[in-house]
Amino acid sequence: MNRRSVLAAGAIAVGVAGGAAAIRSREESAGPGSPEPHPGMDVETRAVMEGTDRETPIYELQAPESGPTAMVFGGLHGDEVNGYRAAEEVVGWRIETGTLVVVPWADVVAVERDSREGPDGDLNRTFPSGEEPTSDLSRELWAEVEASDPDVVLDLHRSRGIYDTHHQWVGQAIFPTGSGDAVADARAVIEHMNAERVPRVMAPHRFTLGNTLTGANPLLIHKVGGDLERPGFLVELTDFLLDPGTQTRWTLEMTELLLERNGITRLE
Ligand SMILES: [Zn+2]
Repeated sequence: MNRRSVLAAGAIAVGVAGGAAAIRSREESAGPGSPEPHPGMDVETRAVMEGTDRETPIYELQAPESGPTAMVFGGLHGDEVNGYRAAEEVVGWRIETGTLVVVPWADVVAVERDSREGPDGDLNRTFPSGEEPTSDLSRELWAEVEASDPDVVLDLHRSRGIYDTHHQWVGQAIFPTGSGDAVADARAVIEHMNAERVPRVMAPHRFTLGNTLTGANPLLIHKVGGDLERPGFLVELTDFLLDPGTQTRWTLEMTELLLERNGITRLE
């Protein structure tokens, strides 16, 4: 990929005290898309929060051969378009083994508003470890997690800035749980992305390994680590000088690689 296609097209770069500026490309379209399941896949859909304005679909892809169960979440933060666009793509996959449960727009009201938070605040602060989730929506989502009994859970996000560069931001990082091979898998995917995808001229955009999520904070993947003790990954891209198309492509590639390392192989 050449440099021009990666650098934010049409972005307005400004020097802002405190580091990362919010740089949104005007070409990014927000809001739920219309994912089409692959015609060769057995896909079941159901909803959480049925009959409410928070109602959002769940797509369950069942491969012909049994195998592990994975869950992929997008849209816990409604303005992190890369995460839900990547999840929408996953809905259209054909997989060889296992079960893939996809929730593209976890906080669909926030996605529709293109805002981080929905009517109940920040959804990704409602999953305390060792306790009930603290909103109706997060309780229903967590009930889906428990019912699916996943072997691995991915949650796709983006941040304004870059982890370890813009101090309060967490982009260009994978935060694994401490279970199974999660840390090693995150490290391997990071190495792949840095070797194969991030151009040399974009050294600040090299991916790094975030801290291990074991239940210390009320984030979905923290709860996966703390309560389920299963592999989980919080994937964070950045909106800083990275165009939306590349954000989504890299999110999707990391999703595919992490799932593959956890036994879910994509055929097409
Ligand atoms: Zn987020």
